[in-house]
Amino acid sequence: MQLLKMELRGFKSFADKTTLTFDKGITAIVGPNGSGKSNISDAVRWVMGEQNVRQLRGQKSEDIIFAGTQTRRPQGAAEVSLYFDNSDHALDTEFTEVVVTRRLFRSGDSEYYINRRPCRLKDIHILFADTGIGQDSMAVIGQNRVDRILNSKPEERRVIFEEVAGISRFKGRKADGLRK
Ligand code: ATP
Ligand code: MG
Repeated sequence: MQLLKMELRGFKSFADKTTLTFDKGITAIVGPNGSGKSNISDAVRWVMGEQNVRQLRGQKSEDIIFAGTQTRRPQGAAEVSLYFDNSDHALDTEFTEVVVTRRLFRSGDSEYYINRRPCRLKDIHILFADTGIGQDSMAVIGQNRVDRILNSKPEERRVIFEEVAGISRFKGRKADGLRK
Protein backbone atom coordinates (compact mmCIF):
# COMPACT_ATOMS: atom_id res chain seq x y z
CA MET A 1 0.00 0.00 0.00
CA GLN A 2 1.35 3.36 -0.94
CA LEU A 3 0.43 6.95 -0.17
CA LEU A 4 -0.09 8.31 -3.67
CA LYS A 5 -1.22 11.81 -3.06
CA MET A 6 -2.38 14.26 -0.46
CA GLU A 7 -4.49 17.38 -0.73
CA LEU A 8 -4.52 20.13 1.86
CA ARG A 9 -6.81 23.15 2.01
CA GLY A 10 -6.89 25.57 4.91
CA PHE A 11 -4.64 23.32 6.99
CA LYS A 12 -2.14 25.40 9.00
CA SER A 13 0.07 27.32 6.56
CA PHE A 14 -1.59 25.75 3.48
CA ALA A 15 -4.29 28.35 2.83
CA ASP A 16 -5.00 27.35 -0.77
CA LYS A 17 -5.60 23.90 -2.11
CA THR A 18 -2.20 22.21 -2.27
CA THR A 19 -1.64 18.83 -3.89
CA LEU A 20 1.41 16.70 -3.19
CA THR A 21 2.00 13.56 -5.23
CA PHE A 22 4.37 10.84 -4.10
CA ASP A 23 6.22 8.65 -6.55
CA LYS A 24 7.59 5.22 -5.78
CA GLY A 25 10.76 5.25 -3.73
CA ILE A 26 11.86 7.83 -1.22
CA THR A 27 10.36 11.30 -1.10
CA ALA A 28 12.21 14.05 0.74
CA ILE A 29 10.56 17.35 1.54
CA VAL A 30 13.02 20.20 1.78
CA GLY A 31 12.55 23.89 2.42
CA PRO A 32 13.61 26.78 4.65
CA ASN A 33 12.71 26.91 8.34
CA GLY A 34 9.03 27.64 8.85
CA SER A 35 8.05 26.79 5.28
CA GLY A 36 5.61 24.05 6.32
CA LYS A 37 7.52 20.75 6.14
CA SER A 38 6.42 19.57 9.57
CA ASN A 39 2.90 20.82 8.87
CA ILE A 40 2.72 18.15 6.16
CA SER A 41 3.48 15.31 8.57
CA ASP A 42 1.07 16.92 11.07
CA ALA A 43 -1.58 16.76 8.35
CA VAL A 44 -0.99 13.03 7.82
CA ARG A 45 -1.38 12.28 11.53
CA TRP A 46 -4.41 14.57 11.76
CA VAL A 47 -6.29 12.69 9.02
CA MET A 48 -5.43 9.37 10.63
CA GLY A 49 -7.26 10.59 13.71
CA GLU A 50 -4.83 12.41 15.98
CA GLN A 51 -7.11 13.92 18.63
CA ASN A 52 -4.51 15.66 20.73
CA VAL A 53 -3.84 19.02 19.10
CA ARG A 54 -0.70 19.47 21.19
CA GLN A 55 0.77 16.53 19.28
CA LEU A 56 0.21 18.69 16.22
CA ARG A 57 1.97 21.59 17.89
CA GLY A 58 -1.20 23.57 18.58
CA GLN A 59 -3.04 24.73 21.70
CA LYS A 60 -6.64 24.36 20.57
CA SER A 61 -8.17 22.50 17.66
CA GLU A 62 -8.78 25.73 15.75
CA ASP A 63 -5.01 26.22 15.55
CA ILE A 64 -4.81 23.78 12.68
CA ILE A 65 -7.03 26.02 10.51
CA PHE A 66 -5.23 28.63 8.42
CA ALA A 67 -5.16 31.70 10.67
CA GLY A 68 -4.67 34.31 7.97
CA THR A 69 -1.85 36.74 7.31
CA GLN A 70 -1.62 40.51 6.89
CA THR A 71 -2.81 40.12 3.32
CA ARG A 72 -5.04 37.04 3.54
CA ARG A 73 -8.18 36.32 5.43
CA PRO A 74 -8.33 33.27 7.69
CA GLN A 75 -9.99 30.14 6.34
CA GLY A 76 -13.22 28.88 7.83
CA ALA A 77 -12.24 25.21 7.67
CA ALA A 78 -9.30 22.87 7.25
CA GLU A 79 -9.51 19.84 5.01
CA VAL A 80 -6.93 17.18 4.22
CA SER A 81 -7.30 14.07 2.04
CA LEU A 82 -4.90 11.15 1.79
CA TYR A 83 -5.02 8.94 -1.30
CA PHE A 84 -3.84 5.36 -0.82
CA ASP A 85 -3.18 2.82 -3.53
CA ASN A 86 -5.20 -0.23 -2.50
CA SER A 87 -4.67 -2.38 -5.59
CA ASP A 88 -3.26 -5.12 -3.32
CA HIS A 89 -6.41 -4.82 -1.13
CA ALA A 90 -4.33 -4.50 2.01
CA LEU A 91 -7.28 -2.44 3.21
CA ASP A 92 -10.39 -4.56 3.48
CA THR A 93 -12.49 -2.77 0.88
CA GLU A 94 -13.30 -3.33 -2.77
CA PHE A 95 -11.87 0.09 -3.72
CA THR A 96 -8.48 0.01 -5.44
CA GLU A 97 -7.88 3.58 -4.34
CA VAL A 98 -8.92 4.71 -0.89
CA VAL A 99 -9.33 8.39 -0.06
CA VAL A 100 -9.53 9.34 3.59
CA THR A 101 -10.63 12.90 4.37
CA ARG A 102 -10.94 14.90 7.56
CA ARG A 103 -12.50 18.35 7.76
CA LEU A 104 -12.72 20.72 10.69
CA PHE A 105 -14.79 23.91 10.94
CA ARG A 106 -14.14 26.82 13.28
CA SER A 107 -17.33 25.88 15.08
CA GLY A 108 -15.49 22.75 16.19
CA ASP A 109 -17.49 20.40 13.98
CA SER A 110 -15.29 17.64 12.61
CA GLU A 111 -16.12 15.38 9.69
CA TYR A 112 -14.51 12.21 8.37
CA TYR A 113 -14.95 10.58 4.98
CA ILE A 114 -13.85 7.37 3.31
CA ASN A 115 -14.00 7.71 -0.46
CA ARG A 116 -16.11 10.87 -0.06
CA ARG A 117 -18.73 9.13 2.04
CA PRO A 118 -19.22 10.45 5.58
CA CYS A 119 -18.04 8.03 8.24
CA ARG A 120 -16.96 7.90 11.87
CA LEU A 121 -13.37 8.15 13.03
CA LYS A 122 -13.90 4.63 14.30
CA ASP A 123 -14.49 3.44 10.72
CA ILE A 124 -11.10 4.83 9.73
CA HIS A 125 -9.51 3.05 12.69
CA ILE A 126 -11.17 -0.21 11.67
CA LEU A 127 -10.14 0.17 8.03
CA PHE A 128 -6.49 0.78 8.93
CA ALA A 129 -6.26 -1.64 11.86
CA ASP A 130 -3.27 -4.00 11.53
CA THR A 131 -1.81 -2.09 8.58
CA GLY A 132 0.72 -0.20 10.63
CA ILE A 133 -0.45 3.19 9.39
CA GLY A 134 -3.31 4.00 11.73
CA GLN A 135 -3.43 6.38 14.64
CA ASP A 136 -0.50 6.06 17.06
CA SER A 137 1.31 3.83 14.58
CA MET A 138 5.00 3.92 13.84
CA ALA A 139 4.28 5.27 10.37
CA VAL A 140 5.04 8.80 11.49
CA ILE A 141 7.95 9.07 13.87
CA GLY A 142 8.65 12.50 15.24
CA GLN A 143 12.02 13.48 16.60
CA ASN A 144 10.82 13.48 20.22
CA ARG A 145 9.51 9.95 19.72
CA VAL A 146 12.95 8.68 18.75
CA ASP A 147 14.30 10.10 22.01
CA ARG A 148 11.42 8.53 23.93
CA ILE A 149 12.09 5.10 22.46
CA LEU A 150 15.81 5.33 23.19
CA ASN A 151 15.23 6.47 26.76
CA SER A 152 12.39 4.07 27.57
CA LYS A 153 12.57 1.23 30.08
CA PRO A 154 12.80 -2.33 28.67
CA GLU A 155 9.14 -3.05 29.55
CA GLU A 156 8.00 0.10 27.74
CA ARG A 157 10.15 -0.76 24.77
CA ARG A 158 8.59 -4.20 24.65
CA VAL A 159 5.16 -2.61 24.19
CA ILE A 160 6.53 -0.72 21.20
CA PHE A 161 7.93 -3.91 19.64
CA GLU A 162 4.64 -5.72 20.25
CA GLU A 163 2.81 -2.94 18.50
CA VAL A 164 5.14 -3.05 15.49
CA ALA A 165 4.94 -6.85 15.32
CA GLY A 166 1.13 -6.67 15.35
CA ILE A 167 0.81 -8.62 18.59
CA SER A 168 -0.96 -5.91 20.57
CA ARG A 169 -4.23 -6.42 18.71
CA PHE A 170 -4.33 -10.07 19.81
CA LYS A 171 -3.68 -8.97 23.37
CA GLY A 172 -6.55 -6.51 23.03
CA ARG A 173 -8.87 -9.23 21.73
CA LYS A 174 -7.77 -11.63 24.45
CA ALA A 175 -8.55 -9.01 27.09
CA ASP A 176 -11.96 -8.44 25.44
CA GLY A 177 -12.61 -12.19 25.38
CA LEU A 178 -11.72 -12.67 29.04
CA ARG A 179 -14.10 -9.89 30.02
CA LYS A 180 -17.06 -11.52 28.25
P1 ATP B 1 11.62 23.80 10.40
O1 ATP B 1 12.62 23.62 9.30
O2 ATP B 1 12.00 24.92 11.31
O3 ATP B 1 11.29 22.52 11.11
P2 ATP B 1 9.13 23.56 8.94
O4 ATP B 1 9.31 23.64 7.46
O5 ATP B 1 8.93 22.21 9.52
O6 ATP B 1 10.29 24.35 9.68
P3 ATP B 1 6.54 24.10 9.98
O7 ATP B 1 6.74 23.95 11.44
O8 ATP B 1 5.88 23.00 9.24
O9 ATP B 1 7.90 24.50 9.29
O10 ATP B 1 5.68 25.41 9.67
C1 ATP B 1 5.61 26.46 10.58
C2 ATP B 1 4.85 27.59 9.91
O11 ATP B 1 3.48 27.26 9.81
C3 ATP B 1 4.97 28.86 10.72
O12 ATP B 1 5.36 29.91 9.86
C4 ATP B 1 3.59 29.08 11.24
O13 ATP B 1 3.25 30.43 11.29
C5 ATP B 1 2.74 28.40 10.18
N1 ATP B 1 1.45 28.00 10.73
C6 ATP B 1 1.19 27.07 11.69
N2 ATP B 1 -0.12 27.04 11.98
C7 ATP B 1 -0.71 27.95 11.16
C8 ATP B 1 -2.05 28.41 10.99
N3 ATP B 1 -3.08 27.89 11.70
N4 ATP B 1 -2.28 29.37 10.08
C9 ATP B 1 -1.27 29.90 9.37
N5 ATP B 1 0.00 29.53 9.48
C10 ATP B 1 0.29 28.57 10.37
MG1 MG C 1 9.90 21.15 11.06
